[in-house]
Amino acid sequence: SDQPLWTAVDDYLVSALLPPDPVLDDALRRAADAGLPEIAVAPNQGRLLNLIARVRGARRVLEIGTLGGYSTIWLARALPPDGRVVTLEFDPRHAAVAEENIAAAGLAGVVEVLVGPALETLPTLTGPFDLVFVDADKDNNPAYFEWAMRLTAPGSVIIVDNVVRGGRVADPDDTSPAVVGTRRMHELIGAEPRVAATAVQTVGEKGHDGFTLVYREA
Ligand code: SAM
Repeated sequence: SDQPLWTAVDDYLVSALLPPDPVLDDALRRAADAGLPEIAVAPNQGRLLNLIARVRGARRVLEIGTLGGYSTIWLARALPPDGRVVTLEFDPRHAAVAEENIAAAGLAGVVEVLVGPALETLPTLTGPFDLVFVDADKDNNPAYFEWAMRLTAPGSVIIVDNVVRGGRVADPDDTSPAVVGTRRMHELIGAEPRVAATAVQTVGEKGHDGFTLVYREA
């Protein structure tokens, strides 16, 4: 595989373009020490989320899938002083690490972590959110897209991570729930007249994957 090359290029891009960031380094270390899986977005991907939120001028952000709060911190840093991130996490152990990381980043007043299955916490939320980042259990991606449409407004942005999965998303015979869920979500997005969408495959330190970007036109 070309993984060593992809990792080397990510290392180069991050060192060339992203300032050193001890707060985010500590967040990753705390998550690893607590035994959380190392499936946070890469630094250059976190930066991309941060930049999309800023280009959008987002004030209210919804994240589905917190893990240790790494992407949460990137998103929260994009907001004006009165901005808010609501982030949804199923696993109380992950949520506890996230709370610690968010507090250490000085963002405790900006971020609310809601613990529980997202399909139970989503109905308690009031929109509209300017940006929704979907990065949880991929089998529920169709439902998460439907909730994102309910909780956004024209001009909002929806981003879904891990939509390529090493290319498996293009295999109609792959019956794994994550692939089936992501393909079904793309059918919903493709048939949704209120949005303009694209998806881009990526390689990097996290392998071969990709993200879907949805812009709400109406
Ligand atoms: N967004 C994080 C980042 O980049 O730093 C990574 C999130 S990780 C890929 C997915 C997270 O979703 C895990 O922490 C997992 O516990 C959580 N999750 C899984 N099923 C969930 C559900 N039904 N509701 C809410 N969170 C869920």
